[in-house]
Amino acid sequence: MSLDPHKYRQDFPILSEKVYGKSLVYFDNAATTQTPTQVTDVLVEYYNKYNSNIHRGVHYLSNKSTEGAENARLKVQKFINAAHSHEVIFTAGTTESINLVANSFGECYVSEGDEVIVSEMEHHSNIVPWQMLCQRKKATLKVLPFNDKGELMTEKLEDLITDRTKILAVNHISNSLGTINPIKEIIDFAHSKNVPVLIDAAQSVQHKKIDVQALDADFLVFSGHKLYGPTGVGVLYGKEKYLNEMPPWQGGGEMIKEVTFEKTTYNELPFKFEAGTPNYIDTIGLGAAIDYVEAIGLDEIDAYEQELLAYATAKFESIPNLRIYGTAKNKTSVISFLVEGIHFYDMGMLLDQMGIAVRTGTHCTEPVMQHFGIDGTVRASFAFYNTKEEIDALFAGIEKVCKMFAV
Ligand code: PMP
Repeated sequence: MSLDPHKYRQDFPILSEKVYGKSLVYFDNAATTQTPTQVTDVLVEYYNKYNSNIHRGVHYLSNKSTEGAENARLKVQKFINAAHSHEVIFTAGTTESINLVANSFGECYVSEGDEVIVSEMEHHSNIVPWQMLCQRKKATLKVLPFNDKGELMTEKLEDLITDRTKILAVNHISNSLGTINPIKEIIDFAHSKNVPVLIDAAQSVQHKKIDVQALDADFLVFSGHKLYGPTGVGVLYGKEKYLNEMPPWQGGGEMIKEVTFEKTTYNELPFKFEAGTPNYIDTIGLGAAIDYVEAIGLDEIDAYEQELLAYATAKFESIPNLRIYGTAKNKTSVISFLVEGIHFYDMGMLLDQMGIAVRTGTHCTEPVMQHFGIDGTVRASFAFYNTKEEIDALFAGIEKVCKMFAV
């Protein structure tokens, strides 16, 4: 029996909202997923009952907040099957996690003449921090290309990786193409050449079970707001052996052991990388989001979203002049498309008038657009709370826009 979205939709009050007097159809889940009351209730509860700065107090409230945040760390550890809870660093999100690694790992391990590899289908967050590092260190950024279906040409790694390659950073799932990349194969190959790998799991933790130990990932990053959790909180998982070697990225409270004007010694993991007052209430909310997702089951979520993807793809393929960008064999519930003769902004704005929220533009993946020689796409991305009726509404909406443009 496949998952019944109606069982869960009442957990997300926003899904019952009207926009322009029409029922909201929310298909922008790859940008941000909605947040269930099971998570927002926890945020409100902590603000109303337990709020106090963590790790620093001896009093009841501070202990309650500290306990909540550290419990969330244990939940994340279990969620991704990290060997140690101190390998889980809380950050503001995927972008900050990657910047942390690019700066701190980069400081430690990358020198002039070295190489960093990213793929052609990365989000700007997994390109620009590495590009900045390479500029700083006079290192070279190399790119693993993808084919016209949107599948990584992993066979090219053989030539790309050299003895100067210091790290490879690649996404698990592409936010603009939906491709599910063979990350285990990539990690195994990179490791056979002694190259550590950072996995950008921003688009995968909400669809796929992740086991960092089985994957043998060296770093793995994700954001809370794409996992039905709060905004402004995310995770950096790193292997202890690297995190211990890496210098702190930001200085401030909490990341220190002892401070004098002559010298500062640093705190142990994970606090060495968590300078200043962390976003502890949203961290607790992220823990609640993980509880929520796990109670439904990621396998059930994934299977149902695959059903939505197949349903929507078949419908879209029946629309003349509609091209789907990203037709990989292994895909998640993201469809990027263009209808010939209709600008993506026009399509997005007209669908919006019908209450249908889709994303338009480059999706922060300009190199993907450059690959196809286009300026952007319309992207519909589905979550487990979406229904086939909503996909029917999108399909009817696209047909209506096509008629308006006489396409
Ligand atoms: N990587 C990927 C694959 C993404 O989809 C996103 C968000 N669109 C990011 C990185 C950046 O995430 P955030 O904005 O939450 O830091």
